[in-house]
Amino acid sequence: MIKVGINGYGTIGKRVAYAASMQDDIHVSGIVKNTPDYMAYLASRSFNIYVPDDDKIKEFEDHGIKVKGTLNDLMESSDIIVDATPEGMGMENIKIYKKKGVKAIFQGGEKSNIGDASFNAYSNYNESFKREYTRVVSCNTTALARTLYPILNDYGIENLNVTLIRRATDPNDNKKGPINAIEPSMSFPSHHADDLKTVLNLNNVYTVALKAPTTLMHVHSIEVLLKDDAKIDDIMESWLKYNRILLIEGKDNFKSTAQIMDMARELRRDRGDLYEIAIWRDSVKVIDKRLYYVQAVHQESDVIPENIDAIRSLSGIDKNESIEKTDKSLMISG
Ligand code: NAD
Repeated sequence: MIKVGINGYGTIGKRVAYAASMQDDIHVSGIVKNTPDYMAYLASRSFNIYVPDDDKIKEFEDHGIKVKGTLNDLMESSDIIVDATPEGMGMENIKIYKKKGVKAIFQGGEKSNIGDASFNAYSNYNESFKREYTRVVSCNTTALARTLYPILNDYGIENLNVTLIRRATDPNDNKKGPINAIEPSMSFPSHHADDLKTVLNLNNVYTVALKAPTTLMHVHSIEVLLKDDAKIDDIMESWLKYNRILLIEGKDNFKSTAQIMDMARELRRDRGDLYEIAIWRDSVKVIDKRLYYVQAVHQESDVIPENIDAIRSLSGIDKNESIEKTDKSLMISG
């Protein structure tokens, strides 16, 4: 059994904890919660609760939440810590993990040089194999790597242009925005271009990102200049080999992200999540070696199977074995 502790129990941390608890070769030793709120009560029904340091213990106990120990104690009972603390905290936390000699997985909000590698299960599982520290790339980068990896493998990519329409914030947030505007990133290319290169062997990548007032999903409009020509059916065939890519169509009433997430809730998986990247078949076109498509990304959950595979990669477990186990346990069936 691989013993895993989760540091940070927010949007990503709580989902990784649940997904890890579904694996027959992973044991969740506990989770670190920073505030004694409703989520801490709910978490305590399923997991041992730890706090960042001694000062927090009384605060939790005053709220009637039983605390098993501190992050320090959790590290003692874990082989790997999945760090899902807010963006930027990982740089400080890695010092603590290193001191304790515990392996760790970071999230996409951290700088790409935080660990030994960046991680995407399909495109570079083996770069993190048996390493100490890795970083699962962001929800957007994960989505791009997933659907571009089969294309790169089968036809080669000369040039890539992506427009990312990003959800303003997650559904449980009441602070971030915009709520009445569309906000372009002020750098070109946006940071996603360099991030994608950390997991996919690409040169010419150009990305533009715009934040839009929605919480459900991101949407990407993608244009790829292929090295080798391909027909639409060839492209579909390449994608169909991968469970974590889902092809949807307008004729089935998938007219927007609203229907995609409605379908996801009907699948009755954990939290109504959609781990797969959904590509609209209607949008797929190839014109003079240029492939065009549009995809939707459930930002809260597409990185969850990746975190589970990253745990197995650091532990020295075979790539295909891991992906198969993860998919089966999370009902990702292609
Ligand atoms: P979040 O704010 O939902 O969760 C972070 C949690 O960490 C919160 O519960 C917070 O209370 C807790 N925390 C704060 N200080 C802490 C401390 N000292 N010790 C332990 N816990 C502490 O954030 P999130 O959206 O889950 O993001 C976490 C990471 O995942 C970031 O790097 C982010 O960029 C990345 N990520 C987020 C998404 C997304 O859509 N939300 C998708 C992919 C990757």
